[in-house]
Amino acid sequence: MANKQTQTKYIIVTGGVLSGLGKGITAASLGLFFSNKYNIVPMKLDGYLNSDPGTMNPIEHGEVFVLDDGFEVDMDFGHYERYLGNSAIKDQSLTMGRVFQEIQTKERAGEYLGKTVQMVPHVTNLIQEKIQNTAKKTNADIMLIEVGGTIGDMETELFIEALRQLERKVKKQNMCYIHLTYIPIPGGVSEQKTKPTQQSVKMLQQRGIWPDFIVGRCSENLTQTTKNKISLFASIEPEAVFSAPDLDSVYKVPNKFNEQGFIEKVCENLDMQLDNKNKLESWNRLLNQEKTNNLKIAICGKYTDLEDSYASVVESLKHCEYNLNTNIEIIWFDTENFSQNKSKLSNIDGIIVPGGFGSRGIQGKIDVIQFARENKIPYLGICYGLQLAVIEFLRNVCNTPNATSMEIDKNATNPAITLLDEQKNIVQLGGTMRLGKYLGKLKLGIIHNLYKKLDLIDKNGFVSERHRHRFEVNPNVIDIIENHGLKVCGNSVERNLVEFIELESSQHPYFVATQSHPELKSKLEKPAPLFYGLIQAALELKTK
Ligand code: GLN
Repeated sequence: MANKQTQTKYIIVTGGVLSGLGKGITAASLGLFFSNKYNIVPMKLDGYLNSDPGTMNPIEHGEVFVLDDGFEVDMDFGHYERYLGNSAIKDQSLTMGRVFQEIQTKERAGEYLGKTVQMVPHVTNLIQEKIQNTAKKTNADIMLIEVGGTIGDMETELFIEALRQLERKVKKQNMCYIHLTYIPIPGGVSEQKTKPTQQSVKMLQQRGIWPDFIVGRCSENLTQTTKNKISLFASIEPEAVFSAPDLDSVYKVPNKFNEQGFIEKVCENLDMQLDNKNKLESWNRLLNQEKTNNLKIAICGKYTDLEDSYASVVESLKHCEYNLNTNIEIIWFDTENFSQNKSKLSNIDGIIVPGGFGSRGIQGKIDVIQFARENKIPYLGICYGLQLAVIEFLRNVCNTPNATSMEIDKNATNPAITLLDEQKNIVQLGGTMRLGKYLGKLKLGIIHNLYKKLDLIDKNGFVSERHRHRFEVNPNVIDIIENHGLKVCGNSVERNLVEFIELESSQHPYFVATQSHPELKSKLEKPAPLFYGLIQAALELKTK
């Protein structure tokens, strides 16, 4: 980066009162302003004892986001990448589980030389070491650190204490604390209430951290009275209290902060200067465009009760909304009850079967895919959505009714979707997963055209997407599906695995699928090509 600082600066974002207020969006929105001039590196400190969110149920924890390096992280990294651009690395996600694991390994290796190993200083030192090593490894000008959970949670106490100690090392002028809190307006009172915020700031101060800025999440802008009250109780200037009102799009948050002079204040606090170049201008141009079209897109799966499980899929559709001037209504379609819900598909403009695991609700997904194929509704299959599209096609078009996946029937002989021989001996959970960034080579066709249109293909026809799956298309079904019109139009470069398929355009306007997760790399300024293609195809059919 152009402006290498001698001393890394630290922006710390904590949360108060409630979880789910949008610490990730707040941190990412601030970071956006610095990302053009500085190397700003997000880091997330999570208090849970799992080593990473990879094996956590998405219904409880939200989407598992995958990095280029194959590491599985919290969905907040999706926001960071969408706002800041760069792919994170494993070190940027630190859970208390990994901290304790490392403490144990060191203790067993005799590294503590017979001392009593304690929360303070051993655990807190290790946390600081991890933060500073990450700063060094990534060559960070600014570390943007989000502390998961809410202040007062027992599980994040050690992170807070480590940060307090870190401040003494790196000096206060290099550290800026931002506390995101909640200002409720209780029903029947119609007044912004600051008591929960007063209490949560006190809790932070009792732990030795004095926030420089307070951001109040509220259904509306904070009033001057509210700011004055917070200022009085939290001992900060009213000018250091900012509003984070509910907005119709998370992409409008940076602008909201900018309008209030928040960014300048943070710069002043850290003694940094920004140039005027940042993404905001091009974002605003997209965000302010009038949307003249309306589409209904179905996302079909079994986790439909928690939309956060498919957060990046939803964001990818939003990126298309702004780039193709279209309002997209998402219809959450539960595939466990296909026949009862089928009527919901009656005037649908496009269908997505996103990634998934296990055999529950599978027949419903296959039925949805058949419905999309036979009724010529634009279809995008992602990961499991590709595997099931192959099975559906084999069963209903290629006359192989027993076609299945090893994931559905582990005793199936010669399944169409299978573990390849080299994977079969790895038994440890997660051990057989293909994770992270892989190159695919595209043949000419619909998918190739889309990657070209969005300028995401190189001159050799190579494209790069991230993966998170265990099973692969069995090479012995490729000829069968291709002879009936379902073409394999992209293979992985390193192992020639099936990565992209599409139905010939004479059979269907848009029936494409990929083994990868293109939603993980979609950006507002550059939507993922296969989502863009889905919406474009749906629009074309609608205006025909
Ligand atoms: N369950 C499938 C597999 O493991 C697909 C995974 C996914 O959709 N992410 O291969």
